[in-house]
Amino acid sequence: MGVLQQIITGLCDAGDEVIFAWRSFEAYPILVELAGARAVRIPLDHLEGHDLDAMAAAVTERTKIILLCTPNNPTGVPISHDRIEAFLRAVRSDILVVIDEAYVEYAEAGSGPDSLALYREYPNVCILRTFSKAYGLAGLRVGYAVAAPEIAEGLRRTALPFSVSALAQKAAIASLDAGEEMEARVAVVKQERARMSRELAARGWKLEPSQGNFLWIRADDELRTRLMEAFDGAGIMVRAYQGDGVRITVADAAANDRVLRILAAHAA
Ligand SMILES: *Cc1c(COP(=O)(O)O)cnc(C)c1O
Repeated sequence: MGVLQQIITGLCDAGDEVIFAWRSFEAYPILVELAGARAVRIPLDHLEGHDLDAMAAAVTERTKIILLCTPNNPTGVPISHDRIEAFLRAVRSDILVVIDEAYVEYAEAGSGPDSLALYREYPNVCILRTFSKAYGLAGLRVGYAVAAPEIAEGLRRTALPFSVSALAQKAAIASLDAGEEMEARVAVVKQERARMSRELAARGWKLEPSQGNFLWIRADDELRTRLMEAFDGAGIMVRAYQGDGVRITVADAAANDRVLRILAAHAA
């Protein structure tokens, strides 16, 4: 997020526009507005994914940055490689297209883009990754960007000194050697995600397949309130998004069973 803030603040003047899907990561509008730029929110499509045609159509001469979140937080829907490539061909090459892959470790291979290949072919692509999610270093706030040398140079120039603590750097470097542990943890999440999706479908819940470590339930205010009361009553923490739905993190099997029992009792 720190890197994203630098990108937005560094590239945008007052009144410049940043396009992103909505709903997506709740920090996007905050970072855009902090930079004095204008947030252009494009509603997700009916499959809870990015509506890239609408995003391309929203480009104006003030557009500086387009944010793509794959898999999307909070819906878990990825954007395919081919769709992003077609999008990159359609938008001006002076617009920076940020591919935010905060949850990419949880995605099935091939569900999302080969972002490095896109970056190699399109210099206006910037990839963001984080150690906060699958690597479990959320409190340490360390992540990185893959970007063209001019952009990377700008990021180095505008970084606050010591913005990534020595401890966070140590932890991130150690994490790079713990790939197998991370993959084992992720494999469990994927297995549980599939099990929950199957059981919920059998109970009449119609959810879009998630490639994140969470499930997304589209819910109007009535359903959301009902679900939140049930989860609160059971002492289970889930994320509510007013007007849109509820995001449930995939946890261990026992906790997931409790979630499934609650949802079974509230099936639409
Ligand atoms: C968590 C998250 C990030 C970055 O988190 P940091 O802790 O700042 O590294 C970026 N994008 C999305 C979509 C996220 O969910």
